[in-house]
Amino acid sequence: MRNIPFFNYPHIFCEHDEAYCKALTETCRRGAYIMQQELAEFEAALRGYLGVQHAFGCADGTMALIMSLKAAGIGPGDEVVVPSHTFVASAAAIHHAGATPVLADCGRDHLIDVGSVKRLITPKTKAIMPVQLNGRTANMDPIMSLATEYGLLIVEDSCQALGSKFRERFAGTFGLAGAFSFYPSKTLGCFGDGGAVITNDDAVAEQIRLLRDHGRGPDGKVWMFGFNSRLDNIQAGILNLKLKRYHEAVRTRRSLARRYHEHLGDVGQVLLPPGPEADPQHFDIYQNFEIEAERRDDLRAHLDKDGVKTIIQWGGFTIHQFEKLGLRADAPYTEEMTKRFMLLPMNTALSLDDVDYICGSIRQFYGK
Ligand SMILES: *Cc1c(COP(=O)(O)O)cnc(C)c1O
Repeated sequence: MRNIPFFNYPHIFCEHDEAYCKALTETCRRGAYIMQQELAEFEAALRGYLGVQHAFGCADGTMALIMSLKAAGIGPGDEVVVPSHTFVASAAAIHHAGATPVLADCGRDHLIDVGSVKRLITPKTKAIMPVQLNGRTANMDPIMSLATEYGLLIVEDSCQALGSKFRERFAGTFGLAGAFSFYPSKTLGCFGDGGAVITNDDAVAEQIRLLRDHGRGPDGKVWMFGFNSRLDNIQAGILNLKLKRYHEAVRTRRSLARRYHEHLGDVGQVLLPPGPEADPQHFDIYQNFEIEAERRDDLRAHLDKDGVKTIIQWGGFTIHQFEKLGLRADAPYTEEMTKRFMLLPMNTALSLDDVDYICGSIRQFYGK
């Protein structure tokens, strides 16, 4: 029997521990902890990778979202439409920017459903926040059209989608600003919290620059009330190394996804996320491999017995199902999906053999 953890936290350090220790030592020996060379290098590398004008490392993905919304001018009295199937941080960011999150349904690919967004637009709607969930970028064409038609801004939660593309355009580059997270289990994970905002808008960039560092301008004076939300220079140094090898990580994830499809494509009891070659308009990076499964809880117990650990995102509840937040949603697909959704292991410590084993266990469960 194998022992396959859902995520292998030691691996993200141990796979190249000597290089990371060397980088860490060099940075610390220089006493370069906050807003130093490594951060500037990482921001330049991120701009280069995504082909954008501006990138700012910040404390985490949640702050990246809050600052993006504030920089876009979203605040009290505004409504922002966001899918209910997302991490609570997406809606919390809207709340902390002073606006109201309005929750939309998702479709079969688990991403924001544009029909649902359209029904939720009111005179107060100021922006749409698509969440590029699980490493896939939504079909942005109808979302962009809707935004143009109603004069809405787009601020992307691309925290799970660094490097993912729709029609050759990167997640995070469709709207006024895009937010990324470098939480350890994200596809580009550092050894703690980290995040970034990207934008092609000079005015938004100027706001982010101020917001993330106490509102301090280049003249050393405080221009506005800001936050303390900088990306640690040590984490930036680690991320510099990781970004150089990032294409390998993406390739690995896509080959694991392909393998899952080869083995499970004919199992009618499970709905898989779209495969890597399913649609040439999409380039998915498989932050997660989120399936829907019949008899989900029994399947998870069966896999667990075979040594395969799985999880359910958000503890099994989407945002409108957290009663204490007091948010409602007319989200029929999301409602049904939450009875069946779960994540299979998907990370760079996993081998194709591991996937074969996991799929064998799933096929056995369904008597295939
Ligand atoms: C991880 C994540 C965030 C928040 O990122 P943190 O770095 O943990 O603050 C926001 N939205 C989504 C969809 C995420 O997966």
